[in-house]
Amino acid sequence: MAAPKESRWSLAGKTALVTGGTRGIGLAIVEELAGLGARVHTCSRTAGDLNTCRRRWVGKGFPADAITSSVCDVSSQRDREGLVGTVRDLFQGQLHILVNNAGQSIYKPAAETTPGDYARLMSTNLDSCFHLTRLAHPLLQRADGGAVVVHMSSVAAFIAYPALSAYSVSKGALHPLTRSLAAEWAPHGVRVNCVAPGAIDTGMFSATLSDPGRARRLAEMEVSRVPMRRFGTPQEVASLVAFLCMPAASYITGQVICIDGGRTLAAKL
Ligand code: NAP
Repeated sequence: MAAPKESRWSLAGKTALVTGGTRGIGLAIVEELAGLGARVHTCSRTAGDLNTCRRRWVGKGFPADAITSSVCDVSSQRDREGLVGTVRDLFQGQLHILVNNAGQSIYKPAAETTPGDYARLMSTNLDSCFHLTRLAHPLLQRADGGAVVVHMSSVAAFIAYPALSAYSVSKGALHPLTRSLAAEWAPHGVRVNCVAPGAIDTGMFSATLSDPGRARRLAEMEVSRVPMRRFGTPQEVASLVAFLCMPAASYITGQVICIDGGRTLAAKL
């Protein structure tokens, strides 16, 4: 018999790790999961931002233990090991939800991309997902009722954007990772999915481009190619991630789901 509706659409009693939770999409995911009843741990590289977020969460009425955080650079193996150790202790050896959200972008023609740029992007966007997920496997496997991993890709892994080649590669590689882990870990009770947002209204788009005028022109061009004619919001991405984490999504694994206002439907509008 199916579980009651209240438990299929709730994250009460679940534990979650969300990387990069101080801004943009990650911040929205942290608050969405905590709002649905999960205990959430998040991280970023910047202690000051984590402190600001702690005050924000108190102001929003979250109980003190609903959202915790620590400094971690997900591109560092030592930091990744430390983060998983923190979560293991915090959640008594179980983790129901891992959201590999932290990521960076670089807007540079391939010919100008240095080995250092490339290595930084790969270690932040790709290596972090592989190794954090691998390190978390014992905790995920132990989670009562099963566990779920969500990777954060991008529509740049589906359509070509000039000057985003390194970024596109770092995201595209998450798709076979998602499918392979889903197949390998289904018998362990772990679902693995991936979300690919289009242009979302966060600081990342403008931070990627140093020239604000150029950033504005590129944003306008991008919106003109989106059938819904607007950027998405971090909350809209957080809703999809939360759904994938719910017991209601218990038969979904190995999927890459675009959330892009229709951007990937047509090459040109
Ligand atoms: P954002 O606003 O720049 O926020 C990124 C978050 O990740 C911050 O909390 C940041 O904190 C953290 N972070 C970055 N590098 C990190 C590292 N090495 N270790 C730990 N934390 C790190 O980005 P966003 O726009 O929300 O993007 C979130 C994810 O969605 C990324 O994976 C991005 O590629 C993907 N995405 C975004 C868009 C978009 O249009 N915004 C579209 C498609 C996909 P610190 O900098 O303090 O570490």
